[in-house]
Formats: sequence, C-alpha cells, structure tokens
Amino acid sequence: TMDFASRVQRVEPSATLAISNLAAELEADGVDVVDLSVGEPDFDTPQNVKDAGEDALEAGHTGYTSSNGIPELKEAIAAKLDDDGLDHDPENVIVTPGGKQALFEIFMSLIDDGDEVCLLDPAWVSYEAMVKMAGGTLSRVDLSPHDFQLEPALSDLEAAVSDDTELLVVNSPSNPTGAVYSDAALEGVRDLAVEHNITVISDEIYKEITYGVEPTSLGTLDGMADRTITVNGFSKAYAMTGWRLGYFAGPEELIDQAGKLHSHSVSCAVNFVQHAGVEALENTDEAVVEMRDAFEERRDMLADLFADHGVDVPVGDGAFYMMLPVDDDDQAWCEGAIEDAHVATVPGSAFGTPGYARLSYAASKERLREGVERLAEHGYI
Ligand code: PLP
Repeated sequence: TMDFASRVQRVEPSATLAISNLAAELEADGVDVVDLSVGEPDFDTPQNVKDAGEDALEAGHTGYTSSNGIPELKEAIAAKLDDDGLDHDPENVIVTPGGKQALFEIFMSLIDDGDEVCLLDPAWVSYEAMVKMAGGTLSRVDLSPHDFQLEPALSDLEAAVSDDTELLVVNSPSNPTGAVYSDAALEGVRDLAVEHNITVISDEIYKEITYGVEPTSLGTLDGMADRTITVNGFSKAYAMTGWRLGYFAGPEELIDQAGKLHSHSVSCAVNFVQHAGVEALENTDEAVVEMRDAFEERRDMLADLFADHGVDVPVGDGAFYMMLPVDDDDQAWCEGAIEDAHVATVPGSAFGTPGYARLSYAASKERLREGVERLAEHGYI
C-alpha cells in the first residue's frame, strides 16, 4: 500500500461532487432528478466566444503560451480590472486554468504550516480544503445569524482576526448565499486588515451576476491596493465552466512567487481558450445581461414559491444560489430530499453552516417549480 501525504489525508472529497454522483446514479436508474446542486450556469457559452476559440484553433494557437498568459488577454484583464476601479499592470496578472487554480496558487504561495486563514461562513467548499492542503489553520465567522450579511457581523470578524491572521477570504457576491456585502462591511474589513496587516483574497467570480446592486471591489478601498489579491474567472459570467479559464491580480512580489508554482505545475492556461477569453471580456455585454436577467427572474420566482409554502429564504443580490433553512441535520435532509423527492441540493454543513441546504437556481423556471412542488409533496418544506 502507498504511504499518502498528510496534505491529502487532511481533506475530504468535494461534498458537491458527492451529491452530483448520487444524482447521476439515480438518473442512470431512470429517475428524473431535479438537480439544484450544480454550481454552473445552465446556458451555453455565447456563440461569438465559441467562434473565437475555434478561430484561434484554426489559426494554430495550439502551443504553449508564456506562463502567465498571452499579452492580449492580460491586457484585456487589466482593462476589465480598471473598469472595476482596480489599477493593475498586465504584468501583475496570472492567467490560470480556472479561478480554482488561481486560488490554489495563492494559498500555496502564502500559507505555511500553522498560518491562520479567516473564512466567512458559509464559505465556498474549496477554500477550507485548500487551506488545509497548504497546512494552514482556520478561523471562522458565522454570518448565518445575520441573514448572511457581513456588516452586522463585523464585531464577530474583529474577534476572529488578530496579528496572527495571515489571510482573509472575502467572496462577494457569495457562493453559497448570494449575499453582496455592503460598502460599510468592506470598509470594516479594510480597517481590520490594515490594523492586523492581513492580506485579503477578494474572490469576485460572481461580480457580473448581480441584481440591482454594483458590488465594490475590495482592492479599490484606501489602504487595500497592496494587500488585496483579486480573483476572477470566466466560468460563471460567460457560461464557460468547461473551458477552464480564470486569473488573479495582485502585488508584483506575489506574482513572482506564485508564478513559480504556476510555471512548475500547469505551465500555462490553454492557448486557444485564452484567445476566446479576450472575446468574452470584450464582446459579451449583451449575453451577460440576458443571463443575469434570467437568473434574477428565477431567483424571485423561487423565493416566492418558498414563501407560498411559508418558508422565508434569505435572498441575496448576486450569484445564483440561495440557502434554504432546513433541519439541523442538513446532511440527512439533503439525502432524503434526493432519495424521496428526487431533488438534489447541497448540505449547508459542506460550507461550514449546518441547518441549510444550498440551492442553485441556474435551472429553468419549470424545473424550479417542479423542485419546490416535489419538496412540498414529500414534506421537506
Ligand atoms: N470561487 C467560487 C466562489 C466559486 O463558486 C467557484 C466555482 O464554483 C470558483 C471560485 C472557481 O470556479 P472556476 O475554477 O470554474 O473558475
């Protein structure tokens, strides 16, 4: 038998995937599952982006690129960041195969054994796993008593961080809650980050998917430019999950260090995919608005349907998720919901917050209606 490293033994496989596997098994048996567990848009990639990818393939963009990304894409990313109020040279960007790889490289570059990372719960599942693989320890702030908003939890955040905190992760709009944090909340984060000299990861992968609010990029706040690492990707805004394209931008010293990990692991993101990424950033405004409008309608419809059943779900202003309050034993609830009602959701405990199930509304209105009906029929709401 093999002697496995503690870094892999410290983590569990992704809970989201466990549910998808259960759903896939049922479907293989011919069961019609309403799958509200997935974290991806149900739209196809915009046609012009696909065309740009195909054109790049045809033009022979099939070799390695420079490790940190093709100049055209890094420039387009720097321009997009500039639109968000963030000032980064193209040289301060690393293009990665997905935002996930960007985050992995950041944690691996900054976290040593025993270093403390602060997460706002519920938090996206992979932050915890990445911190553990890097050898870090976790300090957690529970936003669930505050309808998942950060502003009313700032005193808890103050208690959770100290001079020993190396990194804080802020993900607004949030997966799994959809919450978009207020400017006052971000200013509170800034004050604590400056006071305790904490580096902050701002995961802005859902930034384009918001409803009636403009989320502020954390790095735009006074005192944050040098301590913020902005992470983003193409998966959610442009319905490009399978293309695997993302990036991060930060101070030059970080780019130097993380660039070593990047070049010795992935070498570079896929060449023709990077070309498609330029098109996505430059020519998809309409497609992004169409998808966003569709998500907003579904969010409102789903919240209304739950309200009709007497369930009050805290609704966020972004992303395409909501957290449904369920039994304390959310694992059992989710297993039951998929086995009896054939509705797939993800237990809140996977995100550090038991007592909830995460629902994705990246599904048609018809399927969402069907999902709620089934949950009601089988007594789950
Ligand atoms: N960050 C958050 C909060 C996410 O929800 C996801 C995807 O689920 C990612 C990052 C990574 O996405 P990708 O690697 O597809 O860019």
